[in-house]
Amino acid sequence: MRGRQRQFLRQSIAIILSLAAFCIGVLHNNLHAEEKLSLPPAQVHPLPPSLAQWTDPKGQGDYFDRVRAVKAGFLVWSHFPIQVYIAPPPQGTLIKPEVWQAAIAQSVQDWQPYLPLSIVASEAGADINISANPPLNKSGQRVRSAETRYEIYVSDRKALAHCVTIYIRPNQSPQYITAAARHELGHALGIWGHSLTASDVMYFSQVRNPPSISERDVNTLKRIYQQPTLLGWPVTKILGRAFGNTFGVMTCRFKNEVQHPDRACLSAM
Ligand SMILES: [Zn+2]
Repeated sequence: MRGRQRQFLRQSIAIILSLAAFCIGVLHNNLHAEEKLSLPPAQVHPLPPSLAQWTDPKGQGDYFDRVRAVKAGFLVWSHFPIQVYIAPPPQGTLIKPEVWQAAIAQSVQDWQPYLPLSIVASEAGADINISANPPLNKSGQRVRSAETRYEIYVSDRKALAHCVTIYIRPNQSPQYITAAARHELGHALGIWGHSLTASDVMYFSQVRNPPSISERDVNTLKRIYQQPTLLGWPVTKILGRAFGNTFGVMTCRFKNEVQHPDRACLSAM
């Protein structure tokens, strides 16, 4: 009789544990399903006409495999023109403000045939902010490299949006300022990676004679703008919280020697 009682007790405990595990499983799946429902699928935006018309008859290829998508997908813009603000250099900088402005404006002009860009007079509402004041490193010194940072937020229109800040050292020749800005703008426009070919603007290291934007750069840009992204599409409140204050950094160390690409760039996300 005692043996039967023990067996009954064991069977009852096993049934209770199975039921508990089943309930926890259902609850977990429901939560998971709810999370999934709050995430809209990444979608492709229509190609901007300037990129839709772009062709490369020589088929010089691209370096799309070197470009990373971030948590929100590819860093593409979907409203044009993209507004660029050029901040004046801080007081005490050797370069004249008008020389700095012209050097940066040239780099904006260089990308203009491929994506519509507009230089705006105010920082407020600008998509890309170009600063002559590099951020501080851990030692409290200004970083010596050029850097591009993006930040993702939920816009007033309840769409997932991003804004970009570019930091460039102003104490170099206008030619190098333009070259550095051209490269960093490539990151800001969506090329979140580096080329291994020295004749591309997005080559990972600065070269003695900075190249102009190559067919390979534009081929890569076009492929990026054909990829899905969450940016520019409506989001739910839950997703907004999930992406709030998300940012990434691309640090480009411009020197005249070749560096290993993995050491030339520190990027987050
Ligand atoms: Zn770079």
